[in-house]
Amino acid sequence: MRGATIKCLEYLRTVGAEACDHTQRLHLDARFDAWHKAAYEDKGFLDYGDYFEHANACREKPVQALTLNEVRGRITFILRTARGSDTFLDEPIREGSLKALLERYLELTATGSDAIASGIFGMAVADAVGVPAEFKSREELRARPITDMIGGGAHQQVAGTWSDDTSMALCLVFSLAERNGIDADDIMKRFCDWYENDAYSPHGECFDIGMTVTKALGRYAEGIPADECGGAGAQDNGNGSLMRILPLVYHLISRYGGTFGTSDEAMRLIDQVSSLTHRHPISRVACGIYLHIATRLLLGDAVPDAVQRGVDTALDWYTSHDGYKVRLDCWTRIRDVSAFAALPEDEIRSGGYVVDTLEAALWCLLNTDNYRDCVLKAVNLGSDTDTVAAVVGGLAGIHYGLDGIPSAWMDGLQGKKMLIDCCDALAASLNRR
Ligand SMILES: [Mg+2]
Repeated sequence: MRGATIKCLEYLRTVGAEACDHTQRLHLDARFDAWHKAAYEDKGFLDYGDYFEHANACREKPVQALTLNEVRGRITFILRTARGSDTFLDEPIREGSLKALLERYLELTATGSDAIASGIFGMAVADAVGVPAEFKSREELRARPITDMIGGGAHQQVAGTWSDDTSMALCLVFSLAERNGIDADDIMKRFCDWYENDAYSPHGECFDIGMTVTKALGRYAEGIPADECGGAGAQDNGNGSLMRILPLVYHLISRYGGTFGTSDEAMRLIDQVSSLTHRHPISRVACGIYLHIATRLLLGDAVPDAVQRGVDTALDWYTSHDGYKVRLDCWTRIRDVSAFAALPEDEIRSGGYVVDTLEAALWCLLNTDNYRDCVLKAVNLGSDTDTVAAVVGGLAGIHYGLDGIPSAWMDGLQGKKMLIDCCDALAASLNRR
């Protein structure tokens, strides 16, 4: 439902009042039709027994004050009434009230199980599509591109097997859920359990781990406090904290709201979670930019708007706080998102350096219009294929929704139960608060 809502919002924003021109309304955009159909298939809408009463009761309330049930009631009222009228959708579309209701719906469901699953499955599926191509060069992949979820490659895994990126993100999800917040020691213990005991992996095998992560876990085993284990040198800026940071966005929105970028406390939590393995400011800022973009996508922004707003909000905070300024120049290229999106592929690097990884991920998101193409573009850039794909896959999963992930890839994904369990556990934990 959220994926359909995001697409419908995109339609309402771009077409605006023209959507209610009567001759056009008979041919409403496919994005609107898909959302309309999804709403009728969603129990929360269709079976909303007292929608009429609810809808009237909340009619005068500002949209920002509506609860989830009230939003559903209002939307159901509009849809049911529109059934018997040729023009009833005109007013809510023209005056923007339907758009406002959809925006509020996305805000209220941004930490629900659907939203969590869209990010986690988006990441895991993309990671799995990228695993067989890891270490292949762009030239090799140009000659023989990856076009589907397959097995083999350097790691010799069966098709659908995800790697360290997803495993470490799962450690964070389970920790956030079970500790009801951020517990640095608990997260590190889970990382060690994955590395040493093969937990949090689809086949009980940890087959891929980065150097900086290995060193950080070694330091933790020696008794160094969790917050100080991450490498802090300029050479320690691999993509190992960026690739596992996504689940933190749900905790931050749940605790601080969609504007957590104005909260010093929230921003320091991003630092803390990155620093467990990657403590250099470049790595920490990469995580902050990424989570702000994820937030805007969760709230239904179109891709270019989400990227520009995410970059701006994050860099505003980092620029006005001590300790980051020294290397903020490495983000120059993404400050102007439309110019960045227009760069030719030859200017996009897709190696393990965190700046390259984030750039490559954003460039793929900006230059495709569906989940499948986005992930395949990332994988076929070559080099650190699984991580570039996982990083952009989480964003694409959020934007296109679970329904936007090819069903054959969802069916072929390994270790699905663990992924479902972690999404359910985090949703239950956030909704208990
Ligand atoms: Mg990997």
